[in-house]
Amino acid sequence: MERIGFAGLGTMGAAMAANLARAGFPLTVWNRTTGRAGPLLELGAKEASTPGTLAAESDVVVICVSDSPDVEQVLFGDGGIAATIRPGSLVIDCSTISPTVTWNAAQRLSEQQVQLVDAPVSGGSEGAQKATLTIFVGGEPAAVDRARPILEALGKTITHLGPSGSGQAAKAVNQVVLAGTYLGVAEGIVLALKSGLDVEQVVGALGGGAAQSWVLANRSGRMIANEYPLGFKTALHRKDLQIALDLAADVGAALPISALCVQIETSLIAQGYADEDMSAVARTIRQLAGLNAPASPKRRAATKSG
Ligand code: NAP
Repeated sequence: MERIGFAGLGTMGAAMAANLARAGFPLTVWNRTTGRAGPLLELGAKEASTPGTLAAESDVVVICVSDSPDVEQVLFGDGGIAATIRPGSLVIDCSTISPTVTWNAAQRLSEQQVQLVDAPVSGGSEGAQKATLTIFVGGEPAAVDRARPILEALGKTITHLGPSGSGQAAKAVNQVVLAGTYLGVAEGIVLALKSGLDVEQVVGALGGGAAQSWVLANRSGRMIANEYPLGFKTALHRKDLQIALDLAADVGAALPISALCVQIETSLIAQGYADEDMSAVARTIRQLAGLNAPASPKRRAATKSG
């Protein structure tokens, strides 16, 4: 079995690395902030002190960090993977980043006879824990074939979409669809609440018809309760939509709903909700309808005299 190095033990990475250890892969892990490897060490993993030492001990390096500059840092920064990785090694990047940054990184690594496969994931923290992720894959066919047994330990639906960057482009499509779905469900919930309907009964009724969706089934409860535990951070979806909007500008696609969703998420981040689940877009839709807002002076006066 190939020796795997895993860089980035956040919400997703820690759970994904654990699944690789459980699948029997010899595993070394690294995280920028120390102290996150404990549960993995109990599963038999070793810990490296830098991405470079991780790469030196591995045949395949899997990365799962936040954003494009972070992947560049882990690969090409001081003590990074590129400094020590051996020719013939494979890098699998499961972070959601820009397709252009991915393509450039693949070119740079290829000069060292190292192949890069982009493999961003969807399915949330639940999917990472249960190894049921959907994985969008880009890269050379031989590199993707080599990556497949590793990806199969992480997810269920694995689709090779084309050359380097194609996986990231498909993930951008996924995030655009999510933007519209979350906003649509939030608007529906608010309309049901304001109309005096039994909102949970409405959600149950909708679930049997054409408006059914994963978001309606799994996130409408949070929107009804107006509580948004993680999940998928609003700040990360905001980052993903910017990737989609940049790609859209490059290829000549207008994405008005994604642009609106970015504005709403930027506002949520400015108000301190960056780490809430992205179903927090319902906060804004509720506020626009006056739900949960403090009563206006006029209404307070009316309530007192009544
Ligand atoms: P997270 O919990 O915020 O973890 C981020 C990880 O990246 C941490 O290990 C962090 O290290 C590391 N990191 C960030 N910047 C770094 C840098 N410059 N150098 C080295 N390490 C760095 O995020 P997550 O939810 O696991 O998401 C990881 C990736 O998966 C993101 O691209 C995200 O968009 C994608 N994703 C997430 C979900 C989800 O539901 N959460 C679903 C699908 C895809 P520290 O511990 O030192 O901060």
